[in-house]
Formats: sequence, structure tokens, C-alpha cells
Amino acid sequence: MTTVQDFFDEKVRLPSPPTIALKILEAVRQEENSFDDLARIISTDPSLSVRILKLANSSLYGLSQPVDSLAQATALIGTDALKNIALSFVIVQEFQNAPQGSFNLDYFWRRAITAAVAADVLGSAVGHKGQDLFVTGLLQDIGILILFLSHPNDYRAILDQKRVSGEKLSVAEKEQFGCDHAEVGHYLLSSWNLPECISEPIRWHHMTAKAGKDFQGSAMLLDFSDKISAMYHSVHSNMKSIEVHSGLADKWHVSGGRVDELIDTIGERSREILDLFAMDPKDIKPFSQIMQEANEELGALNLSYEQVVLELKLARRSAEQLAMELQQANNSLRELVYRDGLTGLYNHRYFQNVLETELGRAVRYKHPVSLLLLDIDFFKKVNDTYGHPVGDEILKEIANVLTHLVRSCDVVARYGGEEFAVILPETGSKGAKVLAQRLRRGVEQKKIEHNGKRVSVTVSIGLAATDMTRKELSRVAIIECSDQALYMAKQNGRNRVELGVI
Ligand code: GH3
Ligand code: MG
Ligand code: MG
Repeated sequence: MTTVQDFFDEKVRLPSPPTIALKILEAVRQEENSFDDLARIISTDPSLSVRILKLANSSLYGLSQPVDSLAQATALIGTDALKNIALSFVIVQEFQNAPQGSFNLDYFWRRAITAAVAADVLGSAVGHKGQDLFVTGLLQDIGILILFLSHPNDYRAILDQKRVSGEKLSVAEKEQFGCDHAEVGHYLLSSWNLPECISEPIRWHHMTAKAGKDFQGSAMLLDFSDKISAMYHSVHSNMKSIEVHSGLADKWHVSGGRVDELIDTIGERSREILDLFAMDPKDIKPFSQIMQEANEELGALNLSYEQVVLELKLARRSAEQLAMELQQANNSLRELVYRDGLTGLYNHRYFQNVLETELGRAVRYKHPVSLLLLDIDFFKKVNDTYGHPVGDEILKEIANVLTHLVRSCDVVARYGGEEFAVILPETGSKGAKVLAQRLRRGVEQKKIEHNGKRVSVTVSIGLAATDMTRKELSRVAIIECSDQALYMAKQNGRNRVELGVI
């Protein structure tokens, strides 16, 4: 596995610390005279001096009297604090001019400076000792900058991926480089000889439980400082706020109201300090406003979520409706193909199909099947007497009679003209005869009203039935057989049933 050491050995030339930062660190490390040395070193950079004085006078230190010299600043805020301020300015300045390409350096430092202020404010609030929280907060993500500067394309890809997947940055970094930005930051700052109280919390700010006992508190404060910074500069303020509130309550028993106050203070001070770092504090808004906006955003999200659900429901309903209509259309198309337009009975084509199927089944399983052919008696005369439309009405009425008298498995079809066919599956000649008589009587008894007169017709029926022992029986054969029987029925006086012999 690649270590951070390998990473730097192989892939990265570590940036050297700014000379003035080195001198500052050196001066502070020498116990004696560090006080004077520090002031002297800083004063070699006039703009740095001015900024440090401004910072010493800022709300961050809350001094009761104005500070107008470095010596006074050193006396009032202490050597360590002064060193940290100086370091912060120097390092930010050093990297502010880094080639950034697609990296938003301005955003990076704005986040870092607010995190620095947050670490400092939180540290004082929870009674965390040490003067280094500002610079530690500021540099906690310096590893990101190093990784980006050394591998701009790879790192751009990692940032893009994080935006899409929401995956933790360190996971992707480890995958790509073998180490994450916390390790890189720690390595860099150690190589610059920054004290452990700065580099160690940075090393563990994403894995606070792993930090040594002395650095765990700082590491946790860094974690929260980053979340608060994100609240001010990034999205998902609501989520971060919840994490900060519950985290500070858990770890340091800070009440919710107090957390709100602290977050507000961090926002206000951050504006001031960003200004000292020559950074535009553009999106630093009062905390209450951020929360209000976050809630409104959340409300809008919920609303649109409900709208989406509603639209989905509507879409589904109309899809279901469409599917139903389609099915109905299909059904009616099928009906059109298989049904007779006048009577609504199955048509000749469908009759032939069913007959084929039923004959096949009957032969295969040695089951009986019967076929009736019905022909209206003297129908020509009916047409001639009452007119064609009445003839049509009669055809429909007979279709009705037949349909109501057969079993549900029987198939009634209009064979053609004034002829009907009924297929009787699972029915031998005996049963078929009974049914045929029932149909004949049913038609005979049906009275159709026309112009106050009752018109009635009769049918002749030819019956053909299989005897269950046949190996084969063609459609043509059974139709011919019933047709002959029908002819016999006509011959024998009409309004009667005759059985054919196959
Ligand atoms: P038979 O008892 O010998 O069957 O005498 P018939 O008059 O019924 O026999 P024929 O085959 O001579 O005449 C059938 C008549 O059925 C002729 C035709 O006008 C009538 N017909 C056939 N299809 C329709 C129809 O769709 N509507 C009407 N109104 N009449 C039809
Ligand atoms: Mg006929
Ligand atoms: Mg007829």
C-alpha cells in the first residue's frame, strides 16, 4: 500500500514554506528573545504588519484597548497567537497565487478562513486550551490544495465524482493516491516543522477517534469548524446545522441556543477576518438568514416532491386509463374480426376456427362434439312480407334466443344469411338432440312485435355428432353431415331437428 511518504517521494515536490513563515517559526522555537524576534520579522513585511495589527484589533481577540504597535500586540495577545496570525497570513498569501486552473482557490480559502474562525470561536466556547486553533482550522484542508496542485486532472475528477456520488472525499483520494488530504496536510506541515499541536489534529480531523488523547479535542473542533464553514459557504446548511447542534451538545454539553449564538458569532467574525485576508466575504450571511433560506429551500423541495408524486400518480392513472382503452380497442378490434356485425354472434371465420380446434380436441381425447346447423324457414317470405329491416330484426332476435339457450361453453355463430351454427363441445348426439329441440322451440315461441302484429318464425336444424371412436374427423365432413341433416329437416316439413350420419 502506498504511504503518504511514498506519495511525496514519487509524485510530488512538496512546496517549501514561505521564507518568512520559516523565520517566524524559527523565532518562536527559540525560547529566548522570541518576543522581539517575532515582532522584528513581521515588521520586515509592512503589509503583513498592518494586517496583523488589524487582526489584533478585530473582534476575534476582543481586546478592550486598541492595539497600534506590533510590540503592543505581542504583549496583549501573546507570542503564540501572534505567530499563528502571521503564519496564517503568510501561508494563505503564498498559496493565493497558486496556479488554480479549474480549482476554485478563492472558495477554498474562504472556506478555510471561516473554518479557522470557527475553530477559534468554538475552542474558546468549550474551554479548549491552546492558541493554535485558528491556524490549525485554517490549514486543516491544505492537503486538498497540495493534491490538486500536484495532480490537477485526477483531483478535478475526484471533486466531480464527489459531487455526483456524495462519497467522502478521503475515500476517493485514498483510491487514487493511496493517501487522503488529511495525511498529506499532516505530512506537509510536519515537514515544515510546524508543531504537533497543529499537524496532529489535522491528520485526524476526519477520523477523530484515532487521534492521540492530546489531539482528539482539537481534531473534533476542526470537524465542527469545517461543518460550520460549510453552512456559510456551501449547501445543505440544514443538515450541517443538525450535525453541529447534536455534536456540540453530545461532546461539550453546549445548549442549542448557545450553539446558535456561536454560529452567529462565527459568521460575523468571519466577515471581518475575510476582509483582513483581502477576501470577499460575499456569501457570509447571518445564520438566521441562512437557516431561513435553507428551510424555504427544503419547503420548496417538499412541495416539488409532492408535486412530483401527484404528477406521477396522474401519469400512472392516465397510463392505466390508456392501457385500458387500448385493451378495449384491441378487444373491440378482435370482436370486429370475429363477430358478425348484425347479430353480434361469432362470424363464419371464427366458427371455422373453433370447429377445427374442437374437432381436434374431441378426436385426441375421444370426447364427443356436436354441430347444429340452423336455417330459418321461409325467410324469404318474411322479408318479402315485412321488409328487409324487419328481417334483420328477426335475425337479431333469433341470435338472442340461441345465445340465451345454450351453455356458456357452446359457440353460437352466424354461418351466413339466415343460417346459424352451434358448436357443442363435450356433447354427444343425445344431448345435442335435446338442446336442438330446445332451440327450435325457443325460436318458435319467440314473438317479434311489428306494427302491432306479432311475427314469429321457425328454424330447421341439422345435427351431426361424433361417436367418440373416430380417429379422424374433418371440418368439411361434419359440416356436410349436418348440412345434409338440415336438408332432411327441410324435406321432412321444416321446424324440426334431423340427425345426420357421419
Ligand atoms: P327455406 O325455408 O327453404 O330456408 O326458405 P327461405 O326463404 O328461408 O330460403 P332461401 O334460401 O330461399 O332465402 C333466404 C332468404 O334469407 C333470402 C334472403 O333475402 C334472406 N336473408 C339472408 N341474409 C339476410 C339478412 O342479413 N337480412 C335479411 N333481412 N334477410 C336475409
Ligand atoms: Mg338458407
Ligand atoms: Mg331459409
